[in-house]
Amino acid sequence: MRRVAIVGGGPAGLMAAERLAGQPGLQVDLYDAMPSPGRKFLIAGVGGMNITHAEALPAFIARYGARAAQIAPLLDVFGPAALREWIHGLGIETFVGSSGRVFPKEMKAAPLLRAWLHRLRGQGLRLHVRHRWLGWNAAGELRLATPEGEIALAADATLLALGGGSWAKLGSDGAWVPLLSAAGIPVAPLQPANCGFDVDWSTHFRERFAGAPLKSVVASCGALRQAGEFNITAGGIEGGLVYALAAPLRDTLLAGGPAQLLLDLAPGRSVERLRADLAQPRGRDSLANHLRRRAGIEGVKAALLRELCPPPTLADSAALAAAIKALAVPVTAPRPLDEAISSAGGVRFEALDTALMVRARPGLFVAGEMLDWEAPTGGYLLTACLASGHVAGDGVRAWLG
Ligand SMILES: Cc1cc2nc3c(=O)[nH]c(=O)nc-3n(C[C@H](O)[C@H](O)[C@H](O)COP(=O)(O)OP(=O)(O)OC[C@H]3O[C@@H](n4cnc5c(N)ncnc54)[C@H](O)[C@@H]3O)c2cc1C
Repeated sequence: MRRVAIVGGGPAGLMAAERLAGQPGLQVDLYDAMPSPGRKFLIAGVGGMNITHAEALPAFIARYGARAAQIAPLLDVFGPAALREWIHGLGIETFVGSSGRVFPKEMKAAPLLRAWLHRLRGQGLRLHVRHRWLGWNAAGELRLATPEGEIALAADATLLALGGGSWAKLGSDGAWVPLLSAAGIPVAPLQPANCGFDVDWSTHFRERFAGAPLKSVVASCGALRQAGEFNITAGGIEGGLVYALAAPLRDTLLAGGPAQLLLDLAPGRSVERLRADLAQPRGRDSLANHLRRRAGIEGVKAALLRELCPPPTLADSAALAAAIKALAVPVTAPRPLDEAISSAGGVRFEALDTALMVRARPGLFVAGEMLDWEAPTGGYLLTACLASGHVAGDGVRAWLG
């Protein structure tokens, strides 16, 4: 019997386990630090689990930005269509939402995880919870902290699927970064991805508008431009549209530059029309009334203009129209990694072969969010985690012959 140790029971580790458990001549053990596996997978299902996306594959692959070339071969093996078939095979139906996002019919992760774990146990997978990987001992064995104390175990192949560094209370705390770095495995520092940002709001704005949603706007940062909505928070901005633009905002800040989100508060109106409408005589109207009547701008949108524009801009109809179409919201810092939906950074692809084995450490494989890639929300995260688990699991099988 060859022994395979998988560490990390998130979607990537479980998918790898599925490719390996029940194979003749293999004993597969999965270890997780938490009292139960798949905790982040379950949280991902709380607001309606978006497991993949139905858009055409080239557009899908482009979502992985600078890592598209590394993720594409993984999706060739297990792409969005294969993923949906796989879910159906677990007895869970899926549907495509109006935005192209794919969800389990019940919108939840729990029935899927339950069916999946049941099938894995049936395949002979041995699951060990409350087993925290601590690194390797001098003999190259895995060190695991267990409720009964520390143990060391030798495995013929090891697959790490330890996740990123966000939402540490769910198990993936990034504590593996120094362990792999110390072993000479190159790791790009973990950074928040799909995260909110700090903005220095005035006390008045913060007290009045924290929690307010900003709807039907278009935001851009550099070449990236997207419609959607987000929320004002006491200390900044967060929500889907901000997450979508988080990577360029974060990278601009990391490069030391000032970063700003450019907002179009009236996507349906041209700047010419706004200029003409706002140039109408104001009479005794307050600025708030004038903005509402002439430009359809009110509530938090009007307050944002007051918050961010100097008085001469507010007093000049042409300048005000330009501000409505391109309002710069200066962000000062990304929210901390722990609050982010996902992590950028991780084990560098240059260190891996096509089966996701660490070239310098034959028999060690890595998969999931702990690899150095990032993607927006929309099902792209889970799809790449599952695809990489699939490829790494098959890689272990091939390597063990
Ligand atoms: C609030 C929220 C909502 C999300 N919604 C979506 C969504 O709708 N769609 C989508 O595609 N993605 C979503 N994601 C992202 C998605 O859940 C993750 O990208 C995915 O779970 C990562 O899978 P993984 O297997 O790589 O790692 P994880 O799921 O993080 O699993 C890693 C596992 O490793 C274990 N572990 C870590 N360190 C050790 C150690 N030293 N020893 C032993 N075990 C260890 C952890 O306990 C954990 O079980 C969401 C994330 C969050 C936080």
